Amino acid sequence: MTTVTRFAPSPTGKLHVGNVRTALHNWLLAKKTGGRFLLRIDDTDAERSREEHVDAIRADLAWLGLHPDGEERQSARFAIYEAEFAKLVAAGRLYRCYETSQELDLKRKVLLGRGLPPIYDRSGLNLTEADHAAKAAAGEAPHWRFLLDHDQPITWDDGIRGPQNFDARQMSDPVVRRADGSWLYMLPSAIDDIAMGVTDVLRGEDHVSNTATQIQMFTALGAQPPRFAHEALLTGSEGKLSKRLGALGMADFRDQGIEPEAIVALLARLGTSDPVDPSLDADALAASFDLSRFGRAPARFDEADLHRVNAAIVHRLPFARVAHHLPAGMGEAAWEAIRPNTAHIDEAKDWWQVVTGPVTAPDFDAETREFLAQAADVAALLDWNADPWRALTGALKDSTGRKGKALFLPLRQALTGQDHGPEMAALLPLIAQDEAVRRLRG
Ligand code: GLU
Repeated sequence: MTTVTRFAPSPTGKLHVGNVRTALHNWLLAKKTGGRFLLRIDDTDAERSREEHVDAIRADLAWLGLHPDGEERQSARFAIYEAEFAKLVAAGRLYRCYETSQELDLKRKVLLGRGLPPIYDRSGLNLTEADHAAKAAAGEAPHWRFLLDHDQPITWDDGIRGPQNFDARQMSDPVVRRADGSWLYMLPSAIDDIAMGVTDVLRGEDHVSNTATQIQMFTALGAQPPRFAHEALLTGSEGKLSKRLGALGMADFRDQGIEPEAIVALLARLGTSDPVDPSLDADALAASFDLSRFGRAPARFDEADLHRVNAAIVHRLPFARVAHHLPAGMGEAAWEAIRPNTAHIDEAKDWWQVVTGPVTAPDFDAETREFLAQAADVAALLDWNADPWRALTGALKDSTGRKGKALFLPLRQALTGQDHGPEMAALLPLIAQDEAVRRLRG
């Protein structure tokens, strides 16, 4: 059976690293076996959902290269929920309740005060049709709860957490629909997962108890539950997903010069003890993606790691991938010469400026100036197409007896205005010969 996964964000804000990790892992899990990765916009909450967030979610996924094989939208599926709802009502799996949140709070406090678990007492089940009619006459609309089957043990083999067991008696019947007719997330999600043919639900461990109730919903809806896996939550370096990280969106990373490949490479391994593979090949990352490598300890996301992985990625990016970010005139040889010295693509322009000039060299002492003048004479006669750096340093070594730093550093300083930088053998041919001679003459 083809693997079908889904990423189901609520469009109430922008995606942060935690959401993106969930999306990526679902993508990797599907692609590993040639399956399908679906996007589902969970926009049942009309108040808080925004179209601009829907657009931003699509744009972020596209930027990351996580192209969905299909998209569904919950707000377009209300008629389907209504039909399934009617069937569950007819089957006696949904019942009406009227408690206000204050009343429910009080019930919980009383139970807790008696040392009992704060489980809903199912009072709604005891109401007669006459009671409901009286409520309706008084203008009170019911909310609806899903009746858990107390005799049905809830078990699943979690792809990350291993065997899970829940006792329905220890759980409250979940509210699935509010008095105003709006849907809570759980039932529509189960209905959609069935309709979309989702085989694997991979999400954060904050959903474990939802899974316990949703497993019974799948069964009540006449379907086999999908496989479930719950990932440990992502934390920042301080211990929890900080406000800062929670607020940082993909656009912020993009503005910092972080490449999508770096985010993908880092997040693909975050939560495992496997080393990050700074690979540009997302299919290869998918092939080695393995849920059993993920642990139950929180996964720590460190921005400094992201910058390190970004540098490793930038060092591998081919010219074609970066060409449109580079300054006009900067070609493939220049990118390849400069790439090992850039942690962000944007820095390439600074090195390109070193190539095109002008550069400012330090003040050299008389002896060094003399040496550089000799270098200029040699450089003027070289074949610039035949490894000029090797030829230049070879000739100067023989004629001046200089070697090592005494030979190389003044040349680098005069030619680039810098003490460090890309390999001179790769950089020098990029500088025009007459310009190089001029720089050496000082
Ligand atoms: N919209 C839900 C959320 O963002 C989806 C959870 C799920 O993956 O089922 O939490």
